[in-house]
Amino acid sequence: MHTRGRERLEQRVIRAAESVLEDQKYVSAVDIFLRIGWLNPEALRRWRQGGVRCLEEGVRANLRKISLVMAIFRRWAFRRGLKPSETSYLKRTKGPREELTFSKSGSPELERSCRTHYISPELSQRKQAILREKLHRQPEFVVFWARHPSRCFQCQEEMGSGRLLFLEQGEPLCLGCAGLDHLVFLPRGDSNLTRLARSYSSRYAVVVRFSRTRKRYERQGLLVETQALGRAEAEVRSQDSSQKGEPKGAVRRAKAAMEALEVSEGRAGGF
Ligand SMILES: [Zn+2]
Repeated sequence: MHTRGRERLEQRVIRAAESVLEDQKYVSAVDIFLRIGWLNPEALRRWRQGGVRCLEEGVRANLRKISLVMAIFRRWAFRRGLKPSETSYLKRTKGPREELTFSKSGSPELERSCRTHYISPELSQRKQAILREKLHRQPEFVVFWARHPSRCFQCQEEMGSGRLLFLEQGEPLCLGCAGLDHLVFLPRGDSNLTRLARSYSSRYAVVVRFSRTRKRYERQGLLVETQALGRAEAEVRSQDSSQKGEPKGAVRRAKAAMEALEVSEGRAGGF
Protein backbone atom coordinates (compact mmCIF):
# COMPACT_ATOMS: atom_id res chain seq x y z
CA MET A 1 0.00 0.00 0.00
CA HIS A 2 1.25 3.50 -0.83
CA THR A 3 2.26 5.75 2.05
CA ARG A 4 -0.75 8.03 1.39
CA GLY A 5 -3.18 5.13 1.56
CA ARG A 6 -1.49 3.79 4.66
CA GLU A 7 -1.71 7.16 6.40
CA ARG A 8 -5.37 7.50 5.52
CA LEU A 9 -6.08 4.02 6.84
CA GLU A 10 -4.16 4.80 10.03
CA GLN A 11 -6.24 7.94 10.61
CA ARG A 12 -9.43 6.02 9.95
CA VAL A 13 -8.53 3.24 12.40
CA ILE A 14 -7.52 5.69 15.11
CA ARG A 15 -10.70 7.74 14.68
CA ALA A 16 -12.75 4.54 14.96
CA ALA A 17 -10.80 3.37 18.01
CA GLU A 18 -11.16 6.71 19.80
CA SER A 19 -14.88 6.86 19.20
CA VAL A 20 -15.50 3.26 20.36
CA LEU A 21 -13.39 3.90 23.47
CA GLU A 22 -15.42 7.02 24.17
CA ASP A 23 -18.69 5.07 23.83
CA GLN A 24 -17.95 1.90 25.79
CA LYS A 25 -14.64 2.44 27.65
CA TYR A 26 -13.03 -0.57 25.99
CA VAL A 27 -12.15 -1.52 22.41
CA SER A 28 -11.59 -4.80 20.60
CA ALA A 29 -10.48 -5.63 17.07
CA VAL A 30 -14.05 -6.66 16.24
CA ASP A 31 -15.26 -3.19 17.27
CA ILE A 32 -12.72 -1.57 14.94
CA PHE A 33 -13.67 -3.68 11.93
CA LEU A 34 -17.35 -2.96 12.56
CA ARG A 35 -16.75 0.78 12.97
CA ILE A 36 -14.64 1.18 9.82
CA GLY A 37 -17.28 -0.77 7.90
CA TRP A 38 -15.15 -3.78 6.91
CA LEU A 39 -17.33 -6.15 8.89
CA ASN A 40 -21.10 -6.04 8.77
CA PRO A 41 -23.13 -6.84 11.89
CA GLU A 42 -25.00 -9.63 10.10
CA ALA A 43 -21.72 -11.46 9.33
CA LEU A 44 -20.74 -11.04 12.98
CA ARG A 45 -24.05 -12.51 14.12
CA ARG A 46 -23.66 -15.52 11.79
CA TRP A 47 -20.13 -16.11 13.07
CA ARG A 48 -21.22 -15.98 16.72
CA GLN A 49 -23.87 -18.57 15.95
CA GLY A 50 -21.27 -20.84 14.38
CA GLY A 51 -22.56 -20.26 10.83
CA VAL A 52 -19.20 -19.32 9.31
CA ARG A 53 -15.88 -21.08 9.87
CA CYS A 54 -13.99 -17.94 10.86
CA LEU A 55 -14.67 -14.24 11.17
CA GLU A 56 -12.04 -13.39 8.53
CA GLU A 57 -14.47 -14.76 5.92
CA GLY A 58 -16.88 -11.96 6.84
CA VAL A 59 -14.30 -9.16 6.67
CA ARG A 60 -14.14 -7.23 3.42
CA ALA A 61 -10.34 -7.01 3.19
CA ASN A 62 -7.41 -9.32 2.58
CA LEU A 63 -5.18 -10.67 5.31
CA ARG A 64 -2.45 -8.12 4.59
CA LYS A 65 -4.83 -5.22 5.17
CA ILE A 66 -6.38 -6.90 8.21
CA SER A 67 -2.91 -7.36 9.74
CA LEU A 68 -2.11 -3.73 9.03
CA VAL A 69 -5.27 -2.58 10.83
CA MET A 70 -4.46 -4.85 13.77
CA ALA A 71 -0.93 -3.40 14.00
CA ILE A 72 -2.21 0.20 13.90
CA PHE A 73 -4.80 -0.64 16.54
CA ARG A 74 -2.28 -2.31 18.90
CA ARG A 75 0.17 0.59 18.58
CA TRP A 76 -2.59 3.07 19.31
CA ALA A 77 -3.79 1.09 22.36
CA PHE A 78 -0.22 0.93 23.69
CA ARG A 79 0.32 4.68 23.21
CA ARG A 80 -3.00 5.42 24.90
CA GLY A 81 -1.94 3.33 27.90
CA LEU A 82 -4.95 1.01 27.65
CA LYS A 83 -4.95 -2.24 29.58
CA PRO A 84 -5.10 -5.45 27.55
CA SER A 85 -7.52 -8.14 28.72
CA GLU A 86 -7.92 -11.43 26.91
CA THR A 87 -11.52 -12.51 26.40
CA SER A 88 -13.03 -15.75 25.24
CA TYR A 89 -15.38 -15.79 22.30
CA LEU A 90 -17.57 -18.87 22.52
CA LYS A 91 -20.01 -20.20 19.95
CA ARG A 92 -23.65 -19.58 20.70
CA THR A 93 -24.71 -23.06 19.77
CA LYS A 94 -26.50 -25.77 21.72
CA GLY A 95 -23.55 -28.18 21.81
CA PRO A 96 -20.51 -28.06 24.11
CA ARG A 97 -18.94 -24.64 24.47
CA GLU A 98 -16.49 -24.07 21.64
CA GLU A 99 -14.07 -21.22 21.03
CA LEU A 100 -14.78 -19.20 17.91
CA THR A 101 -12.01 -18.81 15.35
CA PHE A 102 -11.10 -15.44 13.90
CA SER A 103 -8.60 -16.21 11.16
CA LYS A 104 -8.43 -18.70 8.31
CA SER A 105 -4.89 -19.60 9.39
CA GLY A 106 -5.84 -19.99 13.06
CA SER A 107 -2.41 -18.59 14.01
CA PRO A 108 -2.35 -18.52 17.84
CA GLU A 109 -0.72 -15.09 17.88
CA LEU A 110 -3.31 -13.54 15.57
CA GLU A 111 -6.15 -15.29 17.41
CA ARG A 112 -4.92 -13.92 20.72
CA SER A 113 -4.63 -10.38 19.45
CA CYS A 114 -8.17 -10.58 18.02
CA ARG A 115 -9.51 -11.80 21.38
CA THR A 116 -7.81 -9.03 23.34
CA HIS A 117 -9.91 -6.13 24.57
CA TYR A 118 -8.25 -2.90 25.61
CA ILE A 119 -9.75 -1.25 28.65
CA SER A 120 -9.60 2.43 29.53
CA PRO A 121 -7.36 3.11 32.56
CA GLU A 122 -9.63 6.04 33.39
CA LEU A 123 -12.19 3.59 34.76
CA SER A 124 -11.92 2.92 38.49
CA GLN A 125 -10.34 -0.42 39.53
CA ARG A 126 -13.76 -1.65 40.51
CA LYS A 127 -15.32 -0.75 37.17
CA GLN A 128 -12.39 -2.35 35.32
CA ALA A 129 -12.97 -5.56 37.29
CA ILE A 130 -16.71 -5.52 36.53
CA LEU A 131 -15.97 -4.97 32.86
CA ARG A 132 -13.45 -7.84 32.76
CA GLU A 133 -16.02 -10.10 34.39
CA LYS A 134 -18.63 -9.05 31.85
CA LEU A 135 -16.31 -9.67 28.91
CA HIS A 136 -15.44 -13.13 30.22
CA ARG A 137 -19.01 -14.18 30.85
CA GLN A 138 -20.44 -17.05 28.84
CA PRO A 139 -22.48 -15.92 25.88
CA GLU A 140 -26.22 -16.02 26.39
CA PHE A 141 -28.45 -18.38 24.51
CA VAL A 142 -30.78 -16.42 22.30
CA VAL A 143 -34.19 -17.69 21.30
CA PHE A 144 -36.13 -16.00 18.53
CA TRP A 145 -39.81 -15.31 18.67
CA ALA A 146 -40.56 -16.12 15.05
CA ARG A 147 -42.51 -13.83 12.76
CA HIS A 148 -42.64 -16.39 9.93
CA PRO A 149 -43.62 -20.03 9.83
CA SER A 150 -40.61 -22.30 9.53
CA ARG A 151 -39.60 -25.93 9.88
CA CYS A 152 -37.23 -27.44 12.44
CA PHE A 153 -34.24 -28.65 10.43
CA GLN A 154 -33.68 -31.57 12.80
CA CYS A 155 -37.11 -33.13 13.47
CA GLN A 156 -38.82 -31.43 10.50
CA GLU A 157 -41.68 -30.21 12.69
CA GLU A 158 -43.65 -27.38 11.09
CA MET A 159 -43.48 -24.32 13.31
CA GLY A 160 -46.08 -21.59 12.90
CA SER A 161 -45.32 -17.91 13.27
CA GLY A 162 -45.24 -16.90 16.91
CA ARG A 163 -43.21 -19.95 17.90
CA LEU A 164 -39.98 -19.73 19.82
CA LEU A 165 -37.03 -21.14 17.97
CA PHE A 166 -33.29 -21.46 18.27
CA LEU A 167 -30.92 -20.80 15.39
CA GLU A 168 -28.15 -23.35 15.02
CA GLN A 169 -25.69 -22.26 12.34
CA GLY A 170 -28.43 -20.15 10.81
CA GLU A 171 -30.98 -23.00 10.69
CA PRO A 172 -34.13 -23.00 12.85
CA LEU A 173 -34.44 -25.62 15.58
CA CYS A 174 -37.53 -26.24 17.70
CA LEU A 175 -36.96 -25.85 21.44
CA GLY A 176 -37.20 -29.64 21.88
CA CYS A 177 -34.33 -30.27 19.47
CA ALA A 178 -32.36 -27.39 21.01
CA GLY A 179 -32.72 -28.97 24.48
CA LEU A 180 -34.56 -25.92 25.81
CA ASP A 181 -38.14 -27.20 25.98
CA HIS A 182 -38.08 -27.68 29.76
CA LEU A 183 -37.85 -23.90 30.22
CA VAL A 184 -40.75 -21.50 30.80
CA PHE A 185 -41.19 -17.99 29.50
CA LEU A 186 -40.80 -15.14 31.96
CA PRO A 187 -41.90 -11.94 30.16
CA ARG A 188 -39.80 -8.86 30.83
CA GLY A 189 -41.00 -6.27 33.31
CA ASP A 190 -39.99 -7.44 36.78
CA SER A 191 -36.26 -6.87 36.88
CA ASN A 192 -35.75 -8.24 40.38
CA LEU A 193 -37.59 -11.48 39.63
CA THR A 194 -35.78 -11.78 36.29
CA ARG A 195 -32.35 -11.32 37.86
CA LEU A 196 -32.99 -13.92 40.56
CA ALA A 197 -34.61 -16.46 38.21
CA ARG A 198 -31.64 -16.13 35.85
CA SER A 199 -29.11 -16.62 38.62
CA TYR A 200 -30.88 -19.77 39.91
CA SER A 201 -31.36 -21.27 36.46
CA SER A 202 -28.51 -23.53 35.38
CA ARG A 203 -29.64 -22.91 31.81
CA TYR A 204 -31.55 -19.95 30.49
CA ALA A 205 -32.12 -18.15 27.20
CA VAL A 206 -32.97 -14.60 26.21
CA VAL A 207 -36.08 -14.27 24.07
CA VAL A 208 -35.87 -11.64 21.33
CA ARG A 209 -38.28 -10.48 18.69
CA PHE A 210 -37.61 -8.40 15.61
CA SER A 211 -39.28 -5.01 15.77
CA ARG A 212 -40.20 -3.86 12.29
CA THR A 213 -40.68 -0.27 13.38
CA ARG A 214 -37.32 -0.02 15.15
CA LYS A 215 -35.56 -2.43 12.79
CA ARG A 216 -33.80 -4.32 15.53
CA TYR A 217 -34.18 -7.27 17.85
CA GLU A 218 -35.72 -6.46 21.20
CA ARG A 219 -35.68 -8.48 24.41
CA GLN A 220 -39.06 -9.90 25.34
CA GLY A 221 -38.06 -11.83 28.42
CA LEU A 222 -36.22 -14.96 29.48
CA LEU A 223 -36.70 -18.69 29.29
CA VAL A 224 -35.82 -20.07 32.72
CA GLU A 225 -36.17 -23.31 34.65
CA THR A 226 -39.53 -23.69 36.42
CA GLN A 227 -37.79 -24.52 39.69
CA ALA A 228 -35.55 -21.46 39.45
CA LEU A 229 -38.55 -19.24 38.84
CA GLY A 230 -40.37 -20.71 41.83
CA ARG A 231 -37.35 -20.11 44.05
CA ALA A 232 -36.89 -16.56 42.73
CA GLU A 233 -40.52 -15.78 43.36
CA ALA A 234 -40.38 -17.06 46.92
CA GLU A 235 -37.31 -14.91 47.55
CA VAL A 236 -38.92 -11.79 46.09
CA ARG A 237 -41.96 -12.31 48.29
CA SER A 238 -39.90 -12.77 51.41
CA GLN A 239 -37.88 -9.60 50.62
CA ASP A 240 -40.93 -7.50 50.04
CA SER A 241 -43.38 -7.74 52.91
CA SER A 242 -45.96 -5.64 51.08
CA GLN A 243 -46.41 -8.51 48.64
CA LYS A 244 -46.87 -11.16 51.29
CA GLY A 245 -50.57 -11.53 50.77
CA GLU A 246 -50.28 -12.00 47.02
CA PRO A 247 -50.99 -15.45 45.70
CA LYS A 248 -48.12 -17.40 44.11
CA GLY A 249 -48.43 -16.88 40.42
CA ALA A 250 -45.18 -16.32 38.53
CA VAL A 251 -44.72 -19.97 37.57
CA ARG A 252 -48.34 -20.36 36.53
CA ARG A 253 -48.19 -17.12 34.53
CA ALA A 254 -44.93 -18.16 32.87
CA LYS A 255 -46.45 -21.49 31.81
CA ALA A 256 -49.52 -19.71 30.48
CA ALA A 257 -47.32 -17.21 28.60
CA MET A 258 -45.43 -20.15 27.08
CA GLU A 259 -48.68 -21.74 25.90
CA ALA A 260 -49.98 -18.43 24.58
CA LEU A 261 -46.81 -18.07 22.49
CA GLU A 262 -47.47 -21.36 20.77
CA VAL A 263 -50.80 -20.15 19.45
CA SER A 264 -50.09 -16.45 18.97
CA GLU A 265 -50.19 -15.06 15.49
CA GLY A 266 -47.06 -13.55 14.03
CA ARG A 267 -46.87 -11.10 11.17
CA ALA A 268 -44.37 -10.72 8.38
CA GLY A 269 -40.99 -9.30 9.35
CA GLY A 270 -37.56 -10.56 10.36
CA PHE A 271 -37.08 -13.87 12.09
ZN1 LIG B 1 -37.17 -30.16 16.23
